[in-house]
Amino acid sequence: MGNSKIILTGDRPTGRLHVGHYVGSLRRRVELQESGEYDKIFVMIADAQALTDNADNPEKVRQNIVEVALDYLSVGIDPAKTSILIQSQIPELTELTFYYMNLVTVARLQRNPTVKNELHMRDFQNSIPVGFMCYPISQAADITAFKATTVPVGEDQEPMIEQTREIVRKFNSVYGPVLVEPDIMLPTDKACLRLPGIDGKEKMSKSLGNCIYLSEDPAELEKKVKSMFTDPTHLKVSDPGKLEGNTVFTYLDAFCKDEYFAEFCPDYQNLQEMKDHYTRGGLGDMKVKKFLNNVMQATLEPIRARRHEFEKDIPYVYEVLKKGTEEAREVAAKTLDDVKAAMKINYFDDNALIQEQIEKYKNA
Ligand code: ATP
Ligand code: MG
Repeated sequence: MGNSKIILTGDRPTGRLHVGHYVGSLRRRVELQESGEYDKIFVMIADAQALTDNADNPEKVRQNIVEVALDYLSVGIDPAKTSILIQSQIPELTELTFYYMNLVTVARLQRNPTVKNELHMRDFQNSIPVGFMCYPISQAADITAFKATTVPVGEDQEPMIEQTREIVRKFNSVYGPVLVEPDIMLPTDKACLRLPGIDGKEKMSKSLGNCIYLSEDPAELEKKVKSMFTDPTHLKVSDPGKLEGNTVFTYLDAFCKDEYFAEFCPDYQNLQEMKDHYTRGGLGDMKVKKFLNNVMQATLEPIRARRHEFEKDIPYVYEVLKKGTEEAREVAAKTLDDVKAAMKINYFDDNALIQEQIEKYKNA
């Protein structure tokens, strides 16, 4: 493998993908795919992980596999360049998870900030599934199975990548240099690291119901933009407004391009001018929201249109998933072989071991 550059990333099929996914990860994936700098790109639909907190609702997970695949294709993930795979259909990933479990302590999992935060959000009370606590280990299995060097994800995934790096170091020091330590690749723009929900809550998330979906229809999109959280102290148009914590401006940071001003709001040349007017006073929330609505419509319109085309050919979508899963499985199987050989649990392939046993009992 040497200097191969390999990407793995993915999403949980717990709902359609939203604009937080888009700015946090999807947009970047397509750029990386088109850059031609990567030897292999794997994008995983993490259904097994989704089941760790949806065990009682497999139907939801099952239905959303195709939804997520449609979202991928509609943003421009190209199956000729990227393998799209379904996690549960690659048993090698589960097997790796089981062996890695011995390299991680319970205390370490409990300290993981993302897990802590998600436990809080999901309110499991006293019945946290063991599988949920272990999902960072399964994520390490996914990343290392493909020997990924680069993981483009949102900021919430930072502790997961750190956990993976620890497992890799531990494995390699105990069993020999088999696994590759991945690097996280975060969005470069601050607003995209963790896009807030339309309610102003710290993260847009399917589980919080505060999303704008990529496939949102135009009327619903407009309604959501108009209902967005702004600056609650900005009551009169003439009042000076705050940008800090103002979701409408955070979204403009994430989605606005200068050319949109000429098209939709020629009073300003760029976002800085609009922000200056807002903080000075004299610019009303409605005008900013109207502009944001135009920006979001312009961003989502082509995605929506492409989705519509793929929706007409669902058998093709399944074909893409099947082929991508097969391609990925081959790679994961090779890694699992290497892992088992390094751990010396390859009894039937280990001629030295067999000879040793014969020697031991030769006088029996
Ligand atoms: P769930 O609520 O089921 O956990 P989610 O909305 O958090 O769903 P995930 O499937 O967990 O979505 O996340 C997939 C990818 O999208 C990850 O790389 C994550 O970092 C990124 N991501 C998710 N939400 C955001 C967000 N609001 N801003 C930036 N990136 C995000
Ligand atoms: Mg999540």
